Amino acid sequence: MTSEQTFIAVKPDGVQRGLIGPIITRFENRGFKLVAIKLVTPSKEHLEKHYADLSDKPFFKGLITYMGSGPVCAMVWEGRDVVKTGRSILGATNPLASAPGTIRGDFAIDVGRNVCHGSDAVEFAKKEIALWFGKDEVQSWKQASFDWIYEKP
Ligand code: GDP
Ligand code: MG
Repeated sequence: MTSEQTFIAVKPDGVQRGLIGPIITRFENRGFKLVAIKLVTPSKEHLEKHYADLSDKPFFKGLITYMGSGPVCAMVWEGRDVVKTGRSILGATNPLASAPGTIRGDFAIDVGRNVCHGSDAVEFAKKEIALWFGKDEVQSWKQASFDWIYEKP
């Protein structure tokens, strides 16, 4: 299988609201594999790198404050087409535009408190994983359920 990985994070509001479990469960239930996880309060410098492409936006300063306001649950998930599918599990950036059944569509209202992050392209996923995790923090393991989730390897 062409193995793909994505960076998913439960933002500080999601952690405070007890949503780590429900968010992990959605990815686990779908069949994706967790290969890295940690709780971290990111520094301003770290977040400015993570959101570098948004540095000219009017909400940038508030976004950095919000994201650094407490622990974030940072994760790497692996599986077929997990980058695009992860985004659809999260829902639209603006929770009010997110379909019910998505994480943001079920758990959030404001765009500035949208509880989760997910990489939006494979190349960004690679950069984000390298920014948030060391190589030795990402596990390589075979899911016991693999052959029941995928028809072909
Ligand atoms: P994402 O990839 O769906 O997270 O969306 P973006 O990459 O466009 O934006 C990153 C994050 O910035 C979003 O998840 C929001 O938390 C925040 N954000 C985006 N647009 C706005 C906005 O118009 N206002 C505020 N306050 N925050 C925003
Ligand atoms: Mg984005």
